[in-house]
Amino acid sequence: MSDAVAFLRHAPAGEALPLLLDSPHSGEHYPDDFDHAPPREVVRQAEDTHVARLYRSAPAQGATLIEATFPRAYIDANRSLDDIDPSMLSDAWPLPLAASRKTGQGIGLLWRIARGGAPMYARQLTAAEVQRRIDAWYRPYHAALAAELDALHRRFGVVWHINCHSMPAVGDANADDAGRPRKDFVLGDRDATTCSAEFTSLVGETLAAMGYSVAINDPYKGVEIVRRYGRPGERRHSLQIELNRRLYMDETTLEPNANYPALEADLGKLVAAVALYVRAQLQKRS
Ligand SMILES: [Zn+2]
Repeated sequence: MSDAVAFLRHAPAGEALPLLLDSPHSGEHYPDDFDHAPPREVVRQAEDTHVARLYRSAPAQGATLIEATFPRAYIDANRSLDDIDPSMLSDAWPLPLAASRKTGQGIGLLWRIARGGAPMYARQLTAAEVQRRIDAWYRPYHAALAAELDALHRRFGVVWHINCHSMPAVGDANADDAGRPRKDFVLGDRDATTCSAEFTSLVGETLAAMGYSVAINDPYKGVEIVRRYGRPGERRHSLQIELNRRLYMDETTLEPNANYPALEADLGKLVAAVALYVRAQLQKRS
């Protein structure tokens, strides 16, 4: 794969709906200059492995699906560009920095540690190489997401966006909920600021009706992507969905488990329910 390909876009089959799904953390293409210190299998535990594949039926429901190709441990598309730990750099960063709690936990724009706590690098990074990661991977991904959301919003006057992730079954040592088992799904709307309450309820109730446990904004509220694109006052609705990795894979080997097909089918039903809701909302307006 060329280093120029930061994302893949799966176009809706048939009639397009103002519904976009994105998977920023399931990329498996490790660039040659990613000289991480821990073994690849440890670094890969940062991935939301298989998440884009789990939602692969979404385009058949009229949704557009965009997936990142690069690993989040290399540069994290769900962080803001100023969320950098300056101690990771060998020279000065040219712009003001505003490190968040995520950087404090070692998982900012650049990950300082791998899952389990080992240092990600045996050296400091240069500002120039970080800038190249931003320009080659982060910016193209966000440009694609922004362009798609804008185009759908322009055409329909409204857009719904699901930001798709997966989470470890139990909080890592540096997580806010270290050692605590997680629900099946965690929905994040940054305390009801990135989408309508109705949309969060629709997704939560659809999952609960299929028998899943669902938490809202605990421990994940949603980070940069829903914060950047979710503006419900402008009829732009963004919701983060975290799904529990134990529902579909072995968290050490990353191999799909026996439940994978059942979860994939249920996510297909979820997207179908969301598509039905989107159609109903469009009908109300016409
Ligand atoms: Zn994620």
